[in-house]
Amino acid sequence: MPYAYQHNTLHCEQVPLAEIAARVGTPCYVYSSADIVERFCAYDRAFGDMPHLVCYAVKANSNLSVLRLLAGEGAGFDIVSGGELFRVLQAGGDPRRVVFSGVGKTPEEIEYALSEGIYSFNAESEAEIELIDSLALRGGVRARVSLRVNPDVDAATHPYISTGLREHKFGIVIGAIEGMYQRAATLQGIILDGVSCHIGSQLLDTGPMLDAVDKMLELVDHLRGRGIEIRHLDLGGGLGIAYKPGEKAPAIGGVVAAITGKVRGRGLHVMVEPGRSIVGESGVLLTRVLYRKRTPRKEFVVVDAAMNDLLRPALYQSYHEILPVESAPRHTVLADVVGPICETGDFLARDRKISDVFPGDLLALLTAGAYGFVAASNYNSRPRAAEVMVEGGRWRVVRARETFEDLIRGE
Ligand SMILES: *Cc1c(COP(=O)(O)O)cnc(C)c1O
Repeated sequence: MPYAYQHNTLHCEQVPLAEIAARVGTPCYVYSSADIVERFCAYDRAFGDMPHLVCYAVKANSNLSVLRLLAGEGAGFDIVSGGELFRVLQAGGDPRRVVFSGVGKTPEEIEYALSEGIYSFNAESEAEIELIDSLALRGGVRARVSLRVNPDVDAATHPYISTGLREHKFGIVIGAIEGMYQRAATLQGIILDGVSCHIGSQLLDTGPMLDAVDKMLELVDHLRGRGIEIRHLDLGGGLGIAYKPGEKAPAIGGVVAAITGKVRGRGLHVMVEPGRSIVGESGVLLTRVLYRKRTPRKEFVVVDAAMNDLLRPALYQSYHEILPVESAPRHTVLADVVGPICETGDFLARDRKISDVFPGDLLALLTAGAYGFVAASNYNSRPRAAEVMVEGGRWRVVRARETFEDLIRGE
């Protein structure tokens, strides 16, 4: 963990969070660059000499400074929109290391990706394959395509982030894959030589993930047995991280070792698309206490961050640990930590035992680096928070806090 108390004040690497809050204001996201690099490298190292590409899932945190940091480490990128490709290119990412996932790519997005020469598309339907083929032919290029398989395994995670079951919109059922490869064999605009999957997110049990690997390898063997050449195996992302005290997340190195143990010797180029497990732990959301409020039934801590800044608690009932930035010994209280937004769903924590804080005190919501700022909105006409990157003892603003003028731009 890049966050620890030094002299009773919470630090990110060597920087006191109180210093950032005093200079930048709150709410404010803070990221540890060392943690992001370390966790990307944990993936990369664990593959060793096996041909592989670690494609960071941009949607988890698409700040240009995060992307630039990872591009500098040689990362590939998994994108789900044209906007994400634009960000990757702006950050100096290599388009030849980009895979384009997603169930609803538009013709414009496909053309953009083709013209930038991305590595490959993960296609999710027959109609999409035909569209990629025709646009590639028109552009005079050949597009590499993998089929996204729905392996029908239960990822055992929150229903909103489970994606690998038959009833989900994602992927193509395993039984339909061979026919699609056969029909696509005649298409001149594409090179169809891979399979991909992604069964869900925040997986704390590696069982379902490894079951999916087994199913994918069976499929590869089956297709190869039918004379279909398969070179690439993309296993998606989804590795979970510890949000709650006592929660145990699988170690990156161990998971990759289990994967390489299964895949080794088959002559496959392996890709993974981790998002949360690279950036999640690196980030906190800093917020300041505005009010304490007691009703006949409950105690509330009203803070200046809200569901528009961090949507996860409202959307997934997810848990973020909350620590006081200054840790002088205090009583604890049982309270709801809520924001200023006019929605009962606007809470950051419910019935939480937290340090007895008072107006003006700073709190840090931990493990907010993934699916945090990227899902922020301007709901209630709240300018989006600032973002800060820490590097050792130094820090800098990597996205300015929005102004009121930003709120009305384009209207
Ligand atoms: C969201 C997503 C990922 C990243 O998932 P994490 O849980 O953040 O690792 C990877 N691949 C695809 C196709 C996705 O949709």
